[in-house]
Amino acid sequence: MESWVEKGSCLASRYDFDLFVIGAGSGGVRGARIAAEMGAKTAIAEQDRFGGTCVIRGCIPKKFFVYASAFPEEFEDSKGYGWHVEGAHFDWPTLIANKDRQLVRLEGYYRRAVERPGGMIIEDRAVLKNAHTVHLVGANRDVTAETILVATGGRPSRETMIEGSELCITSDEAFELKTFPKRVVIVGGGYIALEFAHIFHGLGAEVTVIYRGPKVLRGFDDDLRDALQDSMQKKGIRLILETVLASCRRVGGAIEATTRSDEKILADQVMLAIGRLPNTKDLGLEQAGVKLGPEGHIEVDRYSRSSVENIYAVGDVTGRIELTPVAIHEAMCFAKTVFGKTPCAPDHELVATAVFTRPEIGTVGLSQADALKRGHTVDIYKTSFWPLKHTLSGRQERMMMKLVVDAKTDKVLGCHIFGPEAAELAQLVAIALKMGATKAQFDATVSVHPTMSEELVTIRHKAGTHAPQETIERPDPADPPEPP
Ligand SMILES: Cc1cc2nc3c(=O)[nH]c(=O)nc-3n(C[C@H](O)[C@H](O)[C@H](O)COP(=O)(O)OP(=O)(O)OC[C@H]3O[C@@H](n4cnc5c(N)ncnc54)[C@H](O)[C@@H]3O)c2cc1C
Repeated sequence: MESWVEKGSCLASRYDFDLFVIGAGSGGVRGARIAAEMGAKTAIAEQDRFGGTCVIRGCIPKKFFVYASAFPEEFEDSKGYGWHVEGAHFDWPTLIANKDRQLVRLEGYYRRAVERPGGMIIEDRAVLKNAHTVHLVGANRDVTAETILVATGGRPSRETMIEGSELCITSDEAFELKTFPKRVVIVGGGYIALEFAHIFHGLGAEVTVIYRGPKVLRGFDDDLRDALQDSMQKKGIRLILETVLASCRRVGGAIEATTRSDEKILADQVMLAIGRLPNTKDLGLEQAGVKLGPEGHIEVDRYSRSSVENIYAVGDVTGRIELTPVAIHEAMCFAKTVFGKTPCAPDHELVATAVFTRPEIGTVGLSQADALKRGHTVDIYKTSFWPLKHTLSGRQERMMMKLVVDAKTDKVLGCHIFGPEAAELAQLVAIALKMGATKAQFDATVSVHPTMSEELVTIRHKAGTHAPQETIERPDPADPPEPP
């Protein structure tokens, strides 16, 4: 097949491009942009909308929904401050239309980020033909590149044995619903499930969460899990634990969801949030010699290089830490390594993260259980208090903060926060932890008053000291095998 790109301007002129990126999400766009800025002749292929999961069907539209769902509690809380907000009502189509307008703007911003330094955008599905050849499916053309970056991300899993699962939506469709569902069943106990449970509940829906484990948010610190689970129940989000959704069927205009324990719930929408799968299927990876891990992720070394020398992968498709800033960081390191000639391995330690429930979770570093598993003897500092704002609003919601400290070195290993603005706090605490801050240095920091965060530098009470032998090795009860 004849090549359709001028070869002359390449750094390595044997190929059409120095770099071909598959997938224009968080990782792909950053990799393409930085490589182009470094002078590499770059192309990026996207089969759907530019910006990927984060911009189109992830972080950004989700945060708009989170903001929208917070207003009813704010209206309620304002009463204690003398406000009377009467006649407030919510209009779902307005939220969807405004959200869509912003996404179009962001999509344009992402496109310009690649085009400005000279990157070429190809609106097509791209698959590998061999280590240096990419086939563009729609155009039925081949292009060649010295280096290929696979940044194809992931998608919501629908791999389930639920009878009638075709009636269910995933987070992808939740962003596009034409009408607001008044009754919602959410299947799953991870952060996406719980964020959507709070979104729909905050906007006025009756929400039921079905989760197969005994406690939501597996992998997070147990005190956070307990605090969130307790708060959800107090709010009126119904949790059905230690069972699975067995079937769904249409009953009139609704869906009847039946659990394995034979409980029936009528809903307008049933949302599956049972995990995400990497987009590695039918991508020609095996043909090109790229090795996949047991769950289909691309296996990479510390420089994000796959088993094929010139093929790299970043972001969710590698299954390391599935977060936007991590995909971006991996892509920056990739570009520096390959085009900046400065080897740079992404650092996956102390990545702060948030769960945008209400109240929210912000966390960085090791959970108590993980610290013990890694052999640390830990001092635990904990505080739980009623935020000043709620003393007038009357909202019975407490804030929880926990520090996991190495008992020998005094280094703060983990910080876990449940309460208002926890995500914003975690970002700043992450800087201190990255610098190796000790508990003594937290204590030596003069607080800002009156704030919630001042508690972080004034926790004096040690809740306990725990040694590694206290961890009893047992399978996580949150993840029993899928029933037959
Ligand atoms: C509901 C939800 C909420 C989230 N919230 C947060 C959050 O609050 N904070 C956070 O940090 N992260 C969040 N995430 C995770 C975050 O969105 C991802 O970690 C991030 O988008 C991963 O970026 P990526 O570049 O690896 O892949 P993606 O952003 O998924 O991009 C991959 C792109 O590749 C394209 N593609 C796939 N195959 C091909 C092909 N063969 N040819 C051409 N194009 C192809 C896809 O269409 C897609 O656009 C959320 C995710 C979801 C689903």
